[in-house]
Amino acid sequence: MRSRRSFLQDVSLSAAAISIGSFPKSYNKGRPGRQAESSRILRVAIMGLGSYGTMVAEAMRTCTRAQLTGVISGTPSKMAAWQKTYHLEPENCYNYENYSRIKDNPNIDAVYVITPNALHHDAVLAIAGAGKHVICEKPMSVNVREAQEMIAACQKAGVGLLVGYRMHFEPHTLQVIRMRMNGDLGKILFFQGLSGFAIGDPGQWRLQKKLSGGGALMDIGIYSVNAARYMTGEEPVWVTAQETKTDPVKFPEGIDETIQFEMGFPGGAVASCLSTYAMNHLDKFFLNGEMDFVDMQPSSNYGPIRAHTSGGPVNAPDVTHQTVQMDEMASILLDGKKPLVPVDGLEALRDITIMEAIYKAAATGQRIML
Ligand code: NAD
Repeated sequence: MRSRRSFLQDVSLSAAAISIGSFPKSYNKGRPGRQAESSRILRVAIMGLGSYGTMVAEAMRTCTRAQLTGVISGTPSKMAAWQKTYHLEPENCYNYENYSRIKDNPNIDAVYVITPNALHHDAVLAIAGAGKHVICEKPMSVNVREAQEMIAACQKAGVGLLVGYRMHFEPHTLQVIRMRMNGDLGKILFFQGLSGFAIGDPGQWRLQKKLSGGGALMDIGIYSVNAARYMTGEEPVWVTAQETKTDPVKFPEGIDETIQFEMGFPGGAVASCLSTYAMNHLDKFFLNGEMDFVDMQPSSNYGPIRAHTSGGPVNAPDVTHQTVQMDEMASILLDGKKPLVPVDGLEALRDITIMEAIYKAAATGQRIML
C-alpha cells in the first residue's frame, strides 16, 4: 500500500501544472487586442531587453494566458529586433522618454520590469502612474523605503504589483511546501539554503552598487532568504551574519562577495544560509523536521529542480518556470487567483526587510531582531 507521503510525492498538486494546456496556444497571431479581450489574456510589455528579459519573452511563446505585446527599451536596435522576432506592433513599443504614454494604450495590461535592481523603484512608480499592472523582477527594490513606496503607489493607482518569484510556481517546490503543510516532515526545525555562482565580467552592473543595490545577497542570496520563509512557513524573528571577501577589487565597498547568515523562527526552527558570488553551482535547499528531511538540489536554478526525502524522490513535472509563472500571474491579475505562496509587493518587502537586517548584522556583528 502506498503511504500518504508517497501519494503526496506522486500526485502533481501544482495548480500551475494543472493550468498548462487548458487554453489554446495563441501567441501573437492576428490582432492582439481583440484576441486578448475574447480569452482574457494578460498582454504584457517587457521593460529591459537584457538576458533575463529575453528568457521571459522566449518562455512566453508557450504561455496560454499571457502574451508579449510590447516593449520598453532605450536601445533602438534591440527594439527593432524584438518587433521582428515577436511580431510586435510599433505602437506598442516605447523608449524610456515616452513610456508614460502607455496609459493610453489599450493593448497593454501590464509591464514586466526586468532592468537592473536600482531602477525598479522609479519604473514601478511610473507604470503605476500610467494605470498598468506591474510585474517587477527580484529584488523588488534596493531598500525597505523604496519597497514601501512601490507598494503604496500601486495601491493608490489600483493596479496589481507582483514580483518575479518564479520558484513559487515550480511544481517540485510546491509539492515540498504541501508536504510540510500536511505535516509529513513533522515539526520543522532546520533549513539550510545555499545560493551562489561565480560571477564573471567585473564591469557589469551587478558589481556597481548604484545599479545593483548590493552584491550576491541582493541577486542570488535572496533565493535562500525567500525559501527559508516558504519552506518553514514562518517569518524570522532574528538574523545574524558574517561577511567574507577574498577579492576587494572585484567586490568593492557595498558589494558583498560572500555572506553567511542565520535566521531564527518563532516555532524554534533555525536557518543557516550562504550567499556568494565566488562559487559556481551552489544551489541547494535542505529542510529537516522531527520526522523527515527534504533535500533539493538544484533548488532554484532554471531547472529541472530535484528533491528527495528519506522515502525517495519527490515526483513533479519539469516545466519552463517563466511560462508557468506568467500564466499564473495572468490568473492572479485577471481572475484574482490566490497563489499558494504570495508573489506580491508585501512578500518582496519581507525579503528586503530581512536582507537589510542581514547587512546590518554583518556590519555590526550583532544579532538583529526583526
Ligand atoms: P541584463 O544586464 O542582462 O539586462 C538588463 C537590461 O536592462 C538590459 O537590456 C539593459 O540595456 C537595461 N538597462 C536599462 N537601463 C539600464 C542602465 N541604466 N544600466 C544598465 N542596464 C540598463 O540583466 P538581467 O540578468 O536581465 O537582470 C535584470 C533583472 O532581472 C535584475 O533585477 C535581476 O535580478 C533579474 N533577474 C531575475 C532572474 C530570475 O530568475 N527571476 C534571473 C536573472 C535576472
